[in-house]
Amino acid sequence: MKFMPPKFTKLEDMASIDVGRLTEDEARAVLEGIRWPKGIACPHCGSMRVKRIEAKSEKVRDGVIQCNDCKGQFTVTVGTIMHRSHITLRQWVQAFYSMCSHKKSVSALQLQRNLGLHTYRAAWFLAHRIRAAMAGKTLAGMLHGDVQVDETYIGGKPKRSPNNKRGRGTKKTPVMVLVERNGDAVSKPIERVDADTLQTAIRENVDQQSTIMTDDLRCYSGVGQEFAGGHLSVNHSTGEYVRGNVTTNTAESYFALMKRGVHGTYHHISKHHLDKYCQEFAFRWNHRKVNDGARAEAAIMGAEGKRLTYKKTVC
Ligand SMILES: [Zn+2]
Repeated sequence: MKFMPPKFTKLEDMASIDVGRLTEDEARAVLEGIRWPKGIACPHCGSMRVKRIEAKSEKVRDGVIQCNDCKGQFTVTVGTIMHRSHITLRQWVQAFYSMCSHKKSVSALQLQRNLGLHTYRAAWFLAHRIRAAMAGKTLAGMLHGDVQVDETYIGGKPKRSPNNKRGRGTKKTPVMVLVERNGDAVSKPIERVDADTLQTAIRENVDQQSTIMTDDLRCYSGVGQEFAGGHLSVNHSTGEYVRGNVTTNTAESYFALMKRGVHGTYHHISKHHLDKYCQEFAFRWNHRKVNDGARAEAAIMGAEGKRLTYKKTVC
């Protein structure tokens, strides 16, 4: 009996193998469905009176839509991070799916091989544009409830040597995470680990009705005054990790996952791009309760309204 691949139109119904089978037209339909769930609307004027231009000759691009009102022409990639890209739509969809389904992320080299891209540079730029789409899906509001706050150092793996300091005092970049119990996370690189920097970040990201939970680092002391739930801490220096309800274990799991990604997938992350990787990990964390396809759809939704040039990415 001949095998008939199932007809899917939504990424959330697709496994990796189905995404790999998409034709260029199917990939376009998937992207159009995500961008215009209620029907195609002209990105220039908003009109829904649109018609497809049939690609009868080689001169007409596939997927061109014309607006009957403003007479403008557009495709599904106009005004998104995919605009003017030489990468095919099926490669874009696969790249989104890949970066959303691998918990520890995917290196540009791996993307280059999986997608059959000609150059590493193309894969690298592709990955950065997808990160920009993920970064667009920031949280709607402030973190609330029990919010665990912790900091760590990320950068090259320190060589095993007695002269090599680990953690505080090294040249690695400090990264901070703020994470709700069973909820969303915000993570970002910070200039330095001091009371001013850490407490400012907490005030900027956490609702005042919350409870702040940290370890016994002195920089956090006093922060509780501004929060209804106050500040509770566990005393890591005496080996205390959980006391009743109080813990920073979720924040530490977040860092454990991120470090496995950084050391296992990227091997090296430049300080300059660290904030983007932080946003990428936070995006996957904040969409961890949905399946890979739905997570990819969420990332694709973030692709609209952003343009990223190669030059802007490099510097
Ligand atoms: Zn229009």
